[in-house]
Amino acid sequence: MSEKTLSIIKPDAVLKNKIGAIISRFEDNNLKVIAAQMLMLSREQAGAFYSVHKERPFYQGLLDFMTSGPVLVMTLEGNNAITKNRELMGATDPAKADTGTIRADFADNVEANAVHGSDSPETAATEIAFFFPNLGG
Ligand code: ADP
Ligand code: MG
Repeated sequence: MSEKTLSIIKPDAVLKNKIGAIISRFEDNNLKVIAAQMLMLSREQAGAFYSVHKERPFYQGLLDFMTSGPVLVMTLEGNNAITKNRELMGATDPAKADTGTIRADFADNVEANAVHGSDSPETAATEIAFFFPNLGG
C-alpha cells in the first residue's frame, strides 16, 4: 500500500555532509522524495514537533540539538513507507542499530542520531501536515 511518511535529516548529519548519502538510501529502496524543505527550526517549532516527549529528561537537550543547525525535512512516498523508513533508519541508539542502517552508519549517539521518521500512520499524517500543510493525506 502506498503511504507517505515524514523524514528529517537532523543537524548532525547535515553538518557531516550526509544529505546525499541518506537520500540515496531512500531512493535505492523505492522511497520517493515528494516534498522537501531545508530550514532552521525555531525552538517553538522543535518543541511543538517533539511535544510528545515534553516530560522526558532529554527534552530540553533534544530541542538544543534540533535547533543547532539546519535540517532537511522531507515527505517520502512508497509502499509501506512508514515501516520501510523506520527499518532503513535503525534503532534510536546507533550503538544498537543494525549494521547497514542509516543510524549505524551516520549517527553519533542516541541524541544526535542523524534522522527522524514517523512511527505510525497517525503520526505520519500529523507530522506531514506540520511541515507541508498543502500535502493531502
Ligand atoms: P525515534 O527518533 O527513534 O522515534 P524517540 O521518538 O524515542 O526515538 O525519541 C525522539 C528523539 O529524541 C530521538 O530520535 C533522539 O534524537 C532523542 N532521544 C531519544 N532518547 C534519548 C535519550 N535517552 N537521550 C537523549 N536523546 C534521546
Ligand atoms: Mg519517535
